[in-house]
Amino acid sequence: MADVLQIAELSAQPALVHGFSTLSLGSMRGGRDGRWLTPERRRFARSLGLDPERLTVAGAVHGAAVARVDEPAGVVRGVDAMVTDRPDLPLLLTFADCYPVVLFDPRRPALAVAHAGWRGTAAGVVRAAVEALEREYGSRPADLVAGLGPGVCGRCYTVGAEVAARFDSACVRRRGDGYLLDLAAANRRQLEAAGVARERIHELGACTMESLELASHRRRPDGTRGACVAALRCPGVATGRRARVEPGDDPTDGGDQG
Ligand SMILES: [Zn+2]
Repeated sequence: MADVLQIAELSAQPALVHGFSTLSLGSMRGGRDGRWLTPERRRFARSLGLDPERLTVAGAVHGAAVARVDEPAGVVRGVDAMVTDRPDLPLLLTFADCYPVVLFDPRRPALAVAHAGWRGTAAGVVRAAVEALEREYGSRPADLVAGLGPGVCGRCYTVGAEVAARFDSACVRRRGDGYLLDLAAANRRQLEAAGVARERIHELGACTMESLELASHRRRPDGTRGACVAALRCPGVATGRRARVEPGDDPTDGGDQG
């Protein structure tokens, strides 16, 4: 598997850079002592031609709060989604079974990333991200292109009755004593209800439980995480192609405080 996975329909957008890390780049969890700009995150950003020093990370809490980001902000605590209309401002969030979701408005242009586990999905985090793009930048939902990254799929995600009851029955199936929840389908439905066109919602289709190359909290609950990063390209700059990553490219960083 490649170091970075991309959704073809998002890669086709000239003003957008995006990617989902695999474990060949290492774990994307934050460092000890609040260090957030870890060597792995630096390497991931660089592999997409993005400046690691400008990364802004969502300090996700499984809610539906959205932050507008106008300049590099390090860690934004307490939010599971971020929006920006500034070029060259890469937004990063980590995941390990939860779905990273990228929303892109090519007309404006503007960008949102959201972290959608069952709690965030039930709280409406992708709907909140669409609404933030409308409110902050005048985006029209019908113009948005959406991408769902890797996550635990509907064949693998077993939940109890109390979680299953929070979701539309179309996204839930019975299995044995429990239920299977299709979180990707739940997020698709939420995006469509928010006005995003069905044919503009795309899925990577990789399952974190099934792929050993992806971080899964359920398969390996040791804190290993993958990450999603997305940024608007600087106008007129035709880069953003994958830069070559040299091994040892990244001297151990000392005390990046978050
Ligand atoms: Zn699966």
